[in-house]
Amino acid sequence: MSKRLEMEVWSLNNCAGCGLCVASCSKQVLGWDGGNHPVVEKRIKTVGYTQSLLDSCTFCQVFCEEVCPRLERWAAPEPQSVVAARAHGPVKSGAPNDVIRSILTAGRSAGLLDGVVLLDLDPWDLKPVARVISTVEEIVTSVGPQYLWAPIFDVLNEAVFDRKMENIAVVGTPCAAQAIRRLRASPNVYLQPYQDSIRLSIAIFCTGIYRPEMVEEVLVNRMGIARDQVKRLEISSDREHLQAVLWNGDVHTIPRQIAEEYTLTGCGSCDDYLGESADLAVGTLGASENTSTLIIRSRVGDVFVRNALQMKLLETTDKVDLVALEVAAGEKDRRERAQAFKDLSLLMLDGLADPLQRNQAIKQFVSLYRTPSRSGTLERSRNGCTGC
Ligand code: SF4
Ligand code: SF4
Ligand code: SF4
Repeated sequence: MSKRLEMEVWSLNNCAGCGLCVASCSKQVLGWDGGNHPVVEKRIKTVGYTQSLLDSCTFCQVFCEEVCPRLERWAAPEPQSVVAARAHGPVKSGAPNDVIRSILTAGRSAGLLDGVVLLDLDPWDLKPVARVISTVEEIVTSVGPQYLWAPIFDVLNEAVFDRKMENIAVVGTPCAAQAIRRLRASPNVYLQPYQDSIRLSIAIFCTGIYRPEMVEEVLVNRMGIARDQVKRLEISSDREHLQAVLWNGDVHTIPRQIAEEYTLTGCGSCDDYLGESADLAVGTLGASENTSTLIIRSRVGDVFVRNALQMKLLETTDKVDLVALEVAAGEKDRRERAQAFKDLSLLMLDGLADPLQRNQAIKQFVSLYRTPSRSGTLERSRNGCTGC
């Protein structure tokens, strides 16, 4: 088993729950048991009356480690452009999921895509599901990501190997886009089928995703809303509330601090709100009324947006509040600092046994707890002379 996943991700409650390690595990020994991260299945060998625990991971190239987004930190690429977008689908709408559906519909219709892996919602019981869809009808009728957690990459093998899709879009949270970025950067040839088939990654802005039990415990039990009344969940534009939009048009708001109790543990240390690794990122922050902010970060993302514009399924303007986006990036600095302290505790543990790690731990310690400079201190030269 990858020691790095165990020590640097799982034991630090850092797992984003994307499931790419589970999908890429060559021996299919990773799975979910209801906790905050995947677990390794225990395999027991019985010989006569004796039983021994097998190390299922022997002779493996540790694919799980190679793709985990939590083991790499990147600088965000400069956006190619930031626009306000509105969908011209079956309805004219500026909701993020409608904008995404328009881009996907245009991409599928033009043959740029043959499938989509996305976080969706089962409309009957409001359970989040990861799905593979392939037709325009499925794209248009999908609900899209709803801030309820499901491991999105659990269906990646179905898309790549069972359904043999060659041009896939993945629509999920920023951490899913980070996992794709990690995957794309890997030199491991065994990961090439995934690299070749994932063409486009789209992220929805995200400050945290909720465990599915939040629906039953908050919406149904505390607020008395029946599951089948809820059309979709969304974050309010001031980011203070989670909103349940009902089929009859009513909107019920849930204060974020109530919903936060159900946030996935790994979201606490996440520093990517704006989908910085995705080809396209979409969200309400910074958007004017009836539009979504659409950030285009790659040439591929640009091709898909231009295609949707050409097919008249999307309209864009430049009315975006860039300051609001900058403020969100400032939050990232705060989280990065929190993460740096977490990394330090890990280094200090390693430093107990390894002198090299100890030196690194000391360096990081000093940079985090740097000595404040005294205000008003005179600058002194070695010679006691200030150049008179
Ligand atoms: S080390 Fe290999 S076999 Fe073990 S969990 Fe990771 S990918 Fe799977
Ligand atoms: S972040 Fe994703 S790849 Fe990393 S351990 Fe968690 S589920 Fe696996
Ligand atoms: S906050 Fe969003 S992007 Fe970050 S780990 Fe949680 S789900 Fe992923």
